[in-house]
Amino acid sequence: MADTLVAGDEVIVVGAGVVGIAIALQLRLEGFAVTLLDRGEPAMETSYGNAGAFAISDVIPLAEPGVLRKVPGWMLDPLGPLALRWRYLPSLLPWLLRFLAASRPSRVATLTRDLSALLRRVNQDYAALIAQAGLGAMWRRHGNLTLYRNQQEFDAALPAWEEKRRHGVQWQALSRSQLLAQEPLLAEEWQCAVRVPDWSHVDDPYTFSCGLFDAFVREGGRFVQDEVLATLEQGGRVSGVETASHGRLQAAATVIACGVWSDRFTRQHHYRVPLESERGYHVNLPKAGVKLHHFIQCASESFVILPMADGGLRLAGTVELAHRDAPADWRRAHILLDKARRIVGDFSTADMTVWMGNRPSLPDTVPIIGPAPQQPGLWFATGHGHLGLTLAATTAVLLTSMLQGRTPALDMQPYRMCRF
Ligand SMILES: Cc1cc2nc3c(=O)[nH]c(=O)nc-3n(C[C@H](O)[C@H](O)[C@H](O)COP(=O)(O)OP(=O)(O)OC[C@H]3O[C@@H](n4cnc5c(N)ncnc54)[C@H](O)[C@@H]3O)c2cc1C
Repeated sequence: MADTLVAGDEVIVVGAGVVGIAIALQLRLEGFAVTLLDRGEPAMETSYGNAGAFAISDVIPLAEPGVLRKVPGWMLDPLGPLALRWRYLPSLLPWLLRFLAASRPSRVATLTRDLSALLRRVNQDYAALIAQAGLGAMWRRHGNLTLYRNQQEFDAALPAWEEKRRHGVQWQALSRSQLLAQEPLLAEEWQCAVRVPDWSHVDDPYTFSCGLFDAFVREGGRFVQDEVLATLEQGGRVSGVETASHGRLQAAATVIACGVWSDRFTRQHHYRVPLESERGYHVNLPKAGVKLHHFIQCASESFVILPMADGGLRLAGTVELAHRDAPADWRRAHILLDKARRIVGDFSTADMTVWMGNRPSLPDTVPIIGPAPQQPGLWFATGHGHLGLTLAATTAVLLTSMLQGRTPALDMQPYRMCRF
């Protein structure tokens, strides 16, 4: 049975990535006494280096047949958009089998409905949280551009765009001249594009997450830097956490928002959740000297360009299926440089840095948001995959409603852990 908490009750949130920070802030704004724990500084893991997009049009799950058809070709190229460390295959097999199962057309239709129900709320949920946190100046709300080389490439993507439109995503197809009117720098190779006007981004997702964190502290939230070893149980319910240096902390509810590391707690409670890392890379080019206005997606190459402050760029993307602790393959970051030059021309690589992060990925692309099936007092918000920044505020609003015993604005069944 789910808990019902009232203002003033103690809540522990474990994990200060963007998902945990947004939940902690929302709970604090609703009057709960919130302790946010992280073994490190806030937003220093996956939420540090993502591409900064509020990707409201990504309503179709990753395991859709169009993607599956491309997988064999990608896998032959170790530096292609998708790579697998073959040594990791036996461990990954359960996740891969579920990924395949999620690609059945009827399942894709259901998952698209479930994802779009979340994504439709993103702008409204973020508007409230961003206003409370005073971060409006960081939020760039002028849409994105998905580039295609020619009409043929665009036509191949059209069924997916039509499906998105059926799920409420507004978009416009742009000719070369319309594209140039939006972004004059784009190379001749790109002949058409799709613009999603309601898509938005932040220049720097780390600064943005820190802004949410600062608002949490300003509102009276407590941050404890410590590793959580396990959850505690008392009287048949989870009553708090055991930490490495601060001993036992008690709370009426404990929320696990540890990204890909949430499996420590699913395993503790014997839940079989197929949570794996889809590792992604970025290249930061603070002195690129390229003035872009829009967030750019290159569908055929599976990477994106985030315009950052002062003409800086972040190139991000690719998926690498490997153990989260395996050494990074920095070639996967460096190949993004040539791909980006083919879009925006040459740029400076002065002060360039590279980064790798662990997307917490579930095989059906839908996050877990809700109570643990068997343990009162324990909640999970994890598995946000490619959409953790996008869905953080919506996750926070929905989870807070559930903790308050209110009927959330959505049917939350599709997001429960017990679907696995
Ligand atoms: C290259 C790349 C580009 C991306 N681009 C986008 C994008 O444009 N838009 C988007 O929406 N998403 C994007 N993502 C995905 C997004 O970054 C993730 O979904 C999101 O950051 C996950 O946030 P999180 O809070 O769940 O996890 P994390 O940010 O990983 O945070 C988990 C936190 O839990 C802490 N923790 C773990 N275990 C413990 C423990 N036992 N005790 C205490 N603390 C613990 C960790 O220290 C960490 O701080 C991208 C990801 C990558 C890799």
